[in-house]
Amino acid sequence: MTVRVGVIGAGMIGQDHIRRLTDVVAGAQVTAVTDIDSGRAAETAVRVGARALPDGPALIAADDVDAVLVTSWGPTHAEHVLNAIAAGKPVLCEKPLATTAEDCLRIVDAECSYGRRLVQVGFMRRYDAGYRQLKGVLDGGTIGTPLMVHCAHRNPTVPDAYHSAMAAQDTAVHEIDVLRWLLGDEIVSAQVITPRATSRRFEHLKDPQIMLFETAQGVRIDLEVFVNCQYGYDIQCETVGETGLARLPDPAAVGIRTAGQHGSAVLQDWKDRFGDAFDTEFREWIASVEAGGEPTGPSAWDGYAATVITDATVRSLESGQQPVTVDMKPRPALHGGPA
Ligand code: NAP
Repeated sequence: MTVRVGVIGAGMIGQDHIRRLTDVVAGAQVTAVTDIDSGRAAETAVRVGARALPDGPALIAADDVDAVLVTSWGPTHAEHVLNAIAAGKPVLCEKPLATTAEDCLRIVDAECSYGRRLVQVGFMRRYDAGYRQLKGVLDGGTIGTPLMVHCAHRNPTVPDAYHSAMAAQDTAVHEIDVLRWLLGDEIVSAQVITPRATSRRFEHLKDPQIMLFETAQGVRIDLEVFVNCQYGYDIQCETVGETGLARLPDPAAVGIRTAGQHGSAVLQDWKDRFGDAFDTEFREWIASVEAGGEPTGPSAWDGYAATVITDATVRSLESGQQPVTVDMKPRPALHGGPA
């Protein structure tokens, strides 16, 4: 069976995922596209042999759409995901699931009322080969009980529109999701500390930031977010356990020795670092839709949790760098909570 996918939002990541569904993932076909810019929807649809539709509701209702991909502007996500649930169609929504915790909860509640999982959130790091190896080591008990995690998320530079809260909302949100998954533990408090700011970017931007998280089991996480580090896109994650430590592998790169030096290139772009993870994410999502089962990736609950933790992180930044307690609602049975 070919899974017929309708795509809402043909911007930067929407175009990349349309290419992925068309050229990389077997068993999928993009049959419908909509975008706030109808001209762009039409051009994209012609290119991949799909139909351009006027808006999200029309696309979700279309008979030739089995599953929905939401890659539109963040504030529109909740409406499209709720409509997909109402139509009983599987939906993969790029992060964020919604821009407020209240809207995330509406989605969680709607899915619970529907009675089975339909929603997957686009946290692609869970599909990265290195993170999967790291999780295997932690789950296998090789380094004993995890005690501390040291992480860094560095970008060479960011666009002018990037502001200080985006360090949590757009950047650290990936670590927030992948660390909850890696540790099988919940984040219960967040704090941001701002060291001396880099002079290489605008004065209003607090960059770098050090984020401190604590989990329910008492694991301490420190995360350096430095989005104008100049030298490259660099993701580090090291877990220290009772009997050893486990480190996320760097991407494979040719070692070069020349002119009295040795080294290797540092990637410059998150799309290169996580391109394979996106491919795997889509292969597994399409396979779950084809099998008629529930999605196996990050859930609506994970989308809610990431938003609540991100909100607490931003509150710490904006209110004098104090620790902020993460205030989450009880987890419903559909998402592993008590029946
Ligand atoms: P984008 O290029 O801006 O495209 C998204 C769509 O939303 C486009 O149709 C765009 O139209 C529209 N849009 C943008 N700003 C808007 C505004 N202010 N009002 C109304 N419409 C607006 O964005 P993107 O980079 O593809 O991101 C789309 C989603 O994917 C976001 O939620 C983002 O967080 C997520 N994302 C996730 C990852 C990941 O690592 N998983 C990576 C990248 C993006 P115009 O082009 O006409 O503005």
